[in-house]
Amino acid sequence: MDTVLYESTRGGCECTYPDTLLKGIAGNGGLFVPKTWPKFSEHDRAKLIKARSYKQVAYRVMAPYLDKKTRRVLKRLLDKAYSKKKFGSRIVPIKKLEDELYLLQVSEGPTWAFKDMALQLLAELLDYWLEELGEYLNIIVATSGDTGSAAIEAFRGRKRITVTVLSPAQGNMSSAQKKQMYGVNDKRVHNIIIEGDFDDCQALVKAIMDDKAFADAHHLGLVNSINWTRIIAQTVYFVWAWSRLAKSPNSPVAFSVPSGNFGDAYACFVALMMDIPIARIVVATNKNDVLDRFFKTGRYDARHGEMMTPTHSPSMDIKLASNFERLLSEAFGRDGIAVNMLMMKMDAKKGWQGWFDISRESPFSRLAEWGFVSGSCSDSATRGAIHMAYERYGVVLDPHTAVAFHVGLSKVVRGIPLVVVETARWEKFPDTIE
Ligand SMILES: *Cc1c(COP(=O)(O)O)cnc(C)c1O
Repeated sequence: MDTVLYESTRGGCECTYPDTLLKGIAGNGGLFVPKTWPKFSEHDRAKLIKARSYKQVAYRVMAPYLDKKTRRVLKRLLDKAYSKKKFGSRIVPIKKLEDELYLLQVSEGPTWAFKDMALQLLAELLDYWLEELGEYLNIIVATSGDTGSAAIEAFRGRKRITVTVLSPAQGNMSSAQKKQMYGVNDKRVHNIIIEGDFDDCQALVKAIMDDKAFADAHHLGLVNSINWTRIIAQTVYFVWAWSRLAKSPNSPVAFSVPSGNFGDAYACFVALMMDIPIARIVVATNKNDVLDRFFKTGRYDARHGEMMTPTHSPSMDIKLASNFERLLSEAFGRDGIAVNMLMMKMDAKKGWQGWFDISRESPFSRLAEWGFVSGSCSDSATRGAIHMAYERYGVVLDPHTAVAFHVGLSKVVRGIPLVVVETARWEKFPDTIE
């Protein structure tokens, strides 16, 4: 097995694993992406269909992205991360609602959101490497609600790690989300509430990390979904879902993904790049619909003066989707200069316009060829979807999942199973459900 090389979305910064794990972000403002995509051949896909467990699939998806040393411990770390105690005996169940309509239940971990899936494994990988290197790490996280608690849960009590979480004072976090975060009393866990919204928190983390001398001096590390390891840990469940539903190595499925920072939808795209037959990636947003408007028009517009609208799905109240840069990079054939230019245009705080438009450029048409479609969902439609799913299928959807359910149903292709990603358990948002 070859070892994948990584590069920055803005060009250069070549490195291998575990550098991407420990650095989190490339030195030049960009994000790490693999230079080449490991591919599943038809034969490999037949083997995936026969795989017996989630962890087996996880190993096959992740190993090609890792160095030899990490690969040797991966099985052991997967066992620790996805233990029965944390995830129960069935890891990532797939619930059938009707023929060709499924729920991918990735939110059965300790904090009831899919963030546990990647963060639990990331914590094991970091723990392992810090011990090997005799290093320590101060993790800094921006959260709109779920990443913070999942990170605290994954990293608390680890000798070589402290966690500082920046959460927004403005917004719609549920009381369960707040309790899971602010209720933790641990000397290596710090919560800081920022006057502002999630984008403000994320911008602070980025600014701190961009000051490389400061970040190095204080051993700062990133575990937001811009950390590559989180992406591939999430790619696993898309491949897993495909492998459970596919009748043959070439049968396609479609996914509907509740989207905010675009980590999950991008992880699904990674599965497509690895040659898993994914016919459609439905990007579902709430009323903060920057992504939806982009996929429809080619114009990405997240100007700052405009307020974020608090919604029933607070973890998706995001305008500047950080992983979106990775998709742009792919669409522009890894042209680091073009990506840098687009991202600069977005930077309203540095005096730029705060939007870009690629509707007339060929990279935009590639997105549709890859199967991206999008839609947005109002709060009342979210409530309607929760009602409908309950009446028709007897399931209670969390508000984020309901967004993807609503949008996904409008994009169904006959003959292709649609898998709606259930990103949180409804119990985390009891007020809305009530
Ligand atoms: C984080 C989160 C999302 C958004 O996922 P992204 O990867 O940021 O697009 C959606 N739903 C829930 C419940 C979340 O916690």
